Amino acid sequence: MNKIIQAACPHDCPDTCAMQVTVHQGQAIKIAGDPHHPTTGGTLCTKVSRYLERTYHAERLLTPLKRIGPKGLGKFTPVSWDEAFTDIAARLMAIAKENPERIVPYSYAGTMGLVQGESMAMRFFNQLGASRLDRTICSSAGGAGLSYTIGRVGMDMEFAQDAQLIILWGSNPIASNLHFWTRVQEAKRKGAYIVAIDPYRSLSAEKCHEHLALLPGTDGALALALAHVLIRDSLLDEDYISRHTVGFEGYKARVAAWSPERAAQVCGVSAAQIENLAVRYGKIALSGQGALIRLNYGMQRSRGGGNATRAVAVLPALVGAWKQPSGGLLFSTSGWYPINKAGLERPDLLEGKVPRTINMTEIAHALNGSGPYQQQEPIAAVMVYNSNPVAVAPDSSSVVRGFAREDLFCVVLEHFMTDTADYADYVLPATTQLEHLDIHRSYGHFYVLANNPAIAPVGDSLPNTEIFRRLAAKMGFNHPCFSESDEQIAAQAFDWKHPYLAHTSWQEVKEKGWAKLNVGNQAPFAEGGFPTASGKTEFFSAALAAQGLEPLPDYLPPLEATDSPLAKKYPLAMISPPARNFLNSTFVNVQSLRATEGEPHLDLHPLDAAKRTIVDGQRVRIFNDRGSFECKARVTEKARPGVVVALSIWWKKLAADGKNANEVTGQSLTDLGAGATFYDCLVEVEAANANSGQERENSV
Ligand code: SF4
Repeated sequence: MNKIIQAACPHDCPDTCAMQVTVHQGQAIKIAGDPHHPTTGGTLCTKVSRYLERTYHAERLLTPLKRIGPKGLGKFTPVSWDEAFTDIAARLMAIAKENPERIVPYSYAGTMGLVQGESMAMRFFNQLGASRLDRTICSSAGGAGLSYTIGRVGMDMEFAQDAQLIILWGSNPIASNLHFWTRVQEAKRKGAYIVAIDPYRSLSAEKCHEHLALLPGTDGALALALAHVLIRDSLLDEDYISRHTVGFEGYKARVAAWSPERAAQVCGVSAAQIENLAVRYGKIALSGQGALIRLNYGMQRSRGGGNATRAVAVLPALVGAWKQPSGGLLFSTSGWYPINKAGLERPDLLEGKVPRTINMTEIAHALNGSGPYQQQEPIAAVMVYNSNPVAVAPDSSSVVRGFAREDLFCVVLEHFMTDTADYADYVLPATTQLEHLDIHRSYGHFYVLANNPAIAPVGDSLPNTEIFRRLAAKMGFNHPCFSESDEQIAAQAFDWKHPYLAHTSWQEVKEKGWAKLNVGNQAPFAEGGFPTASGKTEFFSAALAAQGLEPLPDYLPPLEATDSPLAKKYPLAMISPPARNFLNSTFVNVQSLRATEGEPHLDLHPLDAAKRTIVDGQRVRIFNDRGSFECKARVTEKARPGVVVALSIWWKKLAADGKNANEVTGQSLTDLGAGATFYDCLVEVEAANANSGQERENSV
């Protein structure tokens, strides 16, 4: 008899789908979207539709492994859990006795679950007094920009299909927000006008009515120019501005300097496109129809990403777009959730100590004692879970040099032998989402979801929580919080008495699979009430001013701008957005998905190809002062002139040259949120040495 288990997708995707797993005699035999869940609508994306292939993959790690060869070569021998825990505990305790801050956790969004993410793990590192990790690699610039402007909240995507204008800004929903795309298509069928703002003609951009292919990192200038036109032409909701914003006069003076002509020069689009979009946006919003901006993370991966986010996030207030349920802005909804972070992570275990903080974007500097980490105590141990920094962190050759240090003790919790696991001293097999319990919030909708275990752990794998629980016991940590079960942790993940959740409970969510936050109003900011210090949209941020930072939205050019002196040497701006069949570095080793992606490519415009006598299909070398990697050229007008696109994130060891796009990305940080600047990256491209791929094969 088959059983259907209610589950949730754990991946770093705003859709956070509700899933149903069919189990027959202990084996998962089918995975599908929950047809009753309003945003999932019975559909999973191509990636997670293959989750069973991933779960039962022949290369799943089944036992703890101990390194027996040089770092990086992936030579390991199986050991028992007890042997692994005993040795790891002894090594960590010896380091902690001298200075616990020399131990560093490294984790991100390998699972978005609140239980298997940072609950027991953070308790462990807090008890230890280890360094803290600033988790900046993806969204911190935009998150900070949003927080200083409207709060980390957005409109409800369940109304998006009613909008008359949808602007996909730095967003490719077909690849990374599929269920929002379904609603965009419905809106389009009902007559909505769809615009993409993206340096790349992505799968989504090519299906829009209009595409503004701006230069990477110039979004802030575009947003200021849109505001310039709205103010110049009096396309404003004066009443909304006066009641629900602060700092309009100063902002008005700022945008006066941003004529469409000036922004056109900076952004590499036409002034007419800017004029037309501003007028269309203003007219639709002011006529009481939904004007919606779907802002995603691409645009904040440049030096000025925080300010660019601020410059976009104020636009709906100018035209009163928040008054319609289908209008306003959707960037992240994560701030809606009444999460019980202190209960999950137990910062009280630090007993008032404030350990140093390592910025994860700068992990290469931190491991090598370079950059801002030169004067700091060297890192002696790193524990990696839910992440694969050797593939995903910037300045990759420096990351590898750091992880290759023979004096670094490295433990990796994983499903597979990733690029990072190859450098571990111990690799500990972790369970997948089908094998453990969890609870989820979303950053794209308003639901809390439960993930019930569908099958027993594969091999000897253990949930992350259990690995840290047993390691804590081995190290003599006897605080009662280390004895809590996953069920107890999930039950306290949210404040269930909060008005948004008072209508439900953990038990109900666990049984049904999901519950929607009751935020009380279909257009929650129709009457202001933003979760900012002033309760208003903040053109002027007193909090930024108090830190000595620019209080009004501003434009900061990329560090590596195409008109900078560096561009003489490296004239092409490179971006590395997600490939449709990968999610960060997850799924790259799933054969059916990798087969669809084929092999690493670099998309470049025919004009840029011709200048370098590069032809379609030719192997090319992409390089700058940080490093180089090779792949096949795809000569296409999907890339605009001056911009090259390396869809990512490939596992290095699955690429012919053993490298990926992060060889050339850098460790510089954004203006707000100290975030990563992956798309602030100038390169040059040339034909590759005909023997280079072969050279690697011979050396491996
Ligand atoms: S990756 Fe996103 S779209 Fe795909 S199943 Fe997970 S939540 Fe849904």
